[in-house]
Amino acid sequence: MDDFKQLTVDSIRAGLRAKRFSARELAREALRVAEAENRASGVYLSFTPERALAAADRVDAELAAGAEIGPLAGVPLAVKDVIMTRGEKTTCASRALEQFVAPYDATAVERVERAGAVIVGKTNCDEFAMGSSNENSAFFPVRNPAAPDRVPGGSSGGSAAAVAGGYAPISLGSDTGGSIRQPASFCGAVGIMPTYGRVSRYGLVAFASSLDHIGPFSRTVKDSALLLGSIAGPDPLDSTAASAPVPDYAGELSAQVRGLKIGIPKEYYGEGLEHAVGTKVRAGVDLLRGLGCEPVEISLPHTRYAIASYYLICTAEASSNLARYDGVRYSRRSEGSGTLREMYRNSRAEGFGPEVTRRIILGTYVLSSGYYDAYYRKAQEVRALIARDFAEAFETVDAIITPVSPFPAFKLGEKTSDPLQMYLSDIYTITGSLAGIAGMSVPCGTTPEGLPIGMQILTNHFQEQTMLNLGHAFEQAGGFEG
Ligand code: GLN
Repeated sequence: MDDFKQLTVDSIRAGLRAKRFSARELAREALRVAEAENRASGVYLSFTPERALAAADRVDAELAAGAEIGPLAGVPLAVKDVIMTRGEKTTCASRALEQFVAPYDATAVERVERAGAVIVGKTNCDEFAMGSSNENSAFFPVRNPAAPDRVPGGSSGGSAAAVAGGYAPISLGSDTGGSIRQPASFCGAVGIMPTYGRVSRYGLVAFASSLDHIGPFSRTVKDSALLLGSIAGPDPLDSTAASAPVPDYAGELSAQVRGLKIGIPKEYYGEGLEHAVGTKVRAGVDLLRGLGCEPVEISLPHTRYAIASYYLICTAEASSNLARYDGVRYSRRSEGSGTLREMYRNSRAEGFGPEVTRRIILGTYVLSSGYYDAYYRKAQEVRALIARDFAEAFETVDAIITPVSPFPAFKLGEKTSDPLQMYLSDIYTITGSLAGIAGMSVPCGTTPEGLPIGMQILTNHFQEQTMLNLGHAFEQAGGFEG
């Protein structure tokens, strides 16, 4: 078989057509490699072998019959464990849902399978997607494929490491404040947060509903374009899923980016940005300039309020969304409690880890009467200002280029004792989340020690094609190697 760890959607398609391997052989190989290395990698929380082989057999049968195969036919795919997969565990990396089996498929899951993808397993993440290092998983950490003593980023650390570490060519993650882009940058993968509403959230376990997105990870920009094209579009089961038509992202992918204006926001290149990261991202901008793009300095003046605003809004929404885990309908029930009230309290105390508990408490506080105006309403007002910053910028530029994170992957344990330090990992990704626009991380080289660095490409609502084209042009010109 071709080198399994390097496969892409295109190379799999070519291999299947040329009968170098069958979809079943590929699925078995994906499961074999991932299972054998999972103790060391920590990437998967569970495997879905029966489901994978059944999907692979469908593809092999289509091939044997000479039928049309889907755009993701036979491609092993990993799914973050906050996304529902019918009949399979969906734990959100939480003790509270350790035994929970999803009763239905997320729309994105149904769509990738319709496109022929082979779901091999559910990936590790921070508990309920809250975190930036994957260390908030209740089960075990994920190790960065580029440096095993370092974190893969989070919260979609398992999905990023699955792709970068060679376990699956594509995966699905979720991004609320950076959880796809930041781990993509830490691991050296492509990762996309689509425009809010571009991909249905039906079946994504809710963390902060006004900020949650499902999105792709891959090794090439084209594969993310294919995966995004397969999952995007309206959905009667999610009223926030936009009805805007879905372009043929992969079909229209073009490396012709001459004449595009790219905004370089000065607030993203200042204090706190590590030298090695800034150097590579600036070199990335230079490369795009060489391809005919026109960099323009811009200002997004409300950037410095983004973290505060995000941590008020996301905790408020989390406190409400997580109220359902009371040990009655959902989640683990504590044994031996005397009264109903004790049962609720003990179930939640036993089920949730410290970061989730902190956020529920914070969120309950900021929504409580007397504090709502001072915190929650204020944060919403700031959110509107941040969105306006972007709207004004996009009147003059086609895209905005920034670092993804101020620093590369840090050591396991390095930031666990200081939640505020951890929150700073997302200082450049949270703004785009609050504005509801599209964002992507593409690799742009490594630090002198070999740690991957990501460059963020942000575009206006539903302008994913421009974002993908810039990423593709950058990749074709060798930008991923830095
Ligand atoms: N790291 C951020 C947080 O902890 C973002 C998480 C996410 O995007 N799900 O909230």
